[in-house]
Amino acid sequence: MALPVQTCSRRGGQAYRYLTAFLNQQRSYASAAAEKDVVVIGGGPGGYVAAIKAGQLGLSVACVEGRGTLGGTCLNVGCIPSKALLNSSHMYADAKHHFKNYGINVGEVSYDFSAIQKQKDTAVAGLTKGIEGLFKKNKVDYLKGWGKLVSGNEVEVAGLDGATTRLRAKNILIATGSEVTPLPGVPIDEEKIVSSTGALALKSVPREMVVIGAGYIGLEMGSVYQRLGAQVTVVEFLDNIVPTMDAEVRRAFHRSLEKQGLKFKMATKVTKGEVVDGRVKLTLEPAKGGAAESMECDVCLVSIGRRPFTKGLGLENVGVKTDSRGRVEIDSHFRTSVPSVYAIGDVVPGPMLAHKAEEDGVAAVEIMAGKHGHVNYATVPSICYTHPEVASVGMTEDEAKGKGHEVKVGKFPLMANSRARAVGDTDGMVKVVADKKTDKLLGVHIMGPNAGEMIHEAALALEYGASAEDIARTCHGHPTLSEAVKEAALAASFGKAIHM
Ligand SMILES: Cc1cc2nc3c(=O)[nH]c(=O)nc-3n(C[C@H](O)[C@H](O)[C@H](O)COP(=O)(O)OP(=O)(O)OC[C@H]3O[C@@H](n4cnc5c(N)ncnc54)[C@H](O)[C@@H]3O)c2cc1C
Repeated sequence: MALPVQTCSRRGGQAYRYLTAFLNQQRSYASAAAEKDVVVIGGGPGGYVAAIKAGQLGLSVACVEGRGTLGGTCLNVGCIPSKALLNSSHMYADAKHHFKNYGINVGEVSYDFSAIQKQKDTAVAGLTKGIEGLFKKNKVDYLKGWGKLVSGNEVEVAGLDGATTRLRAKNILIATGSEVTPLPGVPIDEEKIVSSTGALALKSVPREMVVIGAGYIGLEMGSVYQRLGAQVTVVEFLDNIVPTMDAEVRRAFHRSLEKQGLKFKMATKVTKGEVVDGRVKLTLEPAKGGAAESMECDVCLVSIGRRPFTKGLGLENVGVKTDSRGRVEIDSHFRTSVPSVYAIGDVVPGPMLAHKAEEDGVAAVEIMAGKHGHVNYATVPSICYTHPEVASVGMTEDEAKGKGHEVKVGKFPLMANSRARAVGDTDGMVKVVADKKTDKLLGVHIMGPNAGEMIHEAALALEYGASAEDIARTCHGHPTLSEAVKEAALAASFGKAIHM
């Protein structure tokens, strides 16, 4: 049936409007593709969180990641896989050594290492895929490939599929993270001489393992394999393990790890490492000089730290400056020496921690969006996920004194905490450092089970500028480990805890 002319033309007008709207939309997609508000290079916790936040702020954003999966070091070869292995190995050690203390008989306890590794891989795969979902939800374009700066507003992406794409951006955010620092003379092959990445993917548990470096990563990975039956020796150049920890807590932690069976060789440097007949042969010397000695093991983990990763990024193409340690230089607004280029996370100065990278990322894109992004680095917590865990926020006692504070300290041992006693996990303490005159909270240091969860009331208190008395007067649930924080705060503020 023929349509009346009027209807037909009305319909034609509608179609025209649809077509025009469609073309306009396509044009806007094309221009969005041509110039983004932000292009993020690196999809680690710094970069992917920044990209999501940018999407939430209504900015057009693309994230370029070269590893093939999102989540960076943290999700793929860092925080997440290490915590999976720490959990499995802790459960095994608990079942083997401690269940009987609770009247639980399980007979012979054994483990299937490939199943342990599989659980870890499944957790990692689920989480990295999850970020892809979050990208879609927040309208973040995800480009799989390696990004290179070609100008202050252009990124060239060498796609993993072989294609090259050029992205224009009002702002570029460098979030390329860090890589393992190599140790001269000890070449990593990721089988016998491994970095943390290789240590997370071992096919079997070594009989003897040497860990070079008594930092967070070395102690965590050393704990994993010690619990699974390896004889682990940690070789450390300095006199102390984890030098950033509060001295008193660090000493207690060191004793606790020794009690569990980890051996330590302090003030010692490894000068050479090679694989001979399937064994690793190491040459060691006292840090201050002296006679060399040798040591052998099945697997050696090199964990002396991480360094910023900027290889192939083309910083030199556009004049982005780095410091003597290769870290991208930024101002207090994350801006590099090129005003349209920002940088965050492990690639810039500051603690190399996933949650710090995330905070940087959020603040940087807020600034790009004209808001007032800010990170308070004085309240970034650090956590070592061994058992007991060690967590701290704010200043150590020595640091506070070094900064001119007259300090008062409150301590409370977990031995006196009812929950720790009830569950038979009493190795640890809480230490509260406050200013002697004002009672202002300066730092909190916790060693104990779940310290990594407990530390956040202290982080919040510091963020709000609380006094030790504020914590001491806050009602804490009973029976909880967190009551030890209240008790330590009471000890700092009033000179006496209740249960001591
Ligand atoms: C074994 C281990 C355990 C750890 N445990 C913890 C922990 O428990 N808690 C914690 O807070 N921190 C932990 N960390 C540190 C944490 O992983 C890092 O601080 C964090 O991942 C830094 O985030 P980032 O986004 O700055 O960089 P990264 O996570 O390193 O991400 C950077 C990403 O950028 C990509 N990239 C680099 N260059 C380019 C390029 N040119 N183009 C495209 N992509 C590029 C890389 O492939 C990488 O995926 C651990 C690290 C390790 C190794």
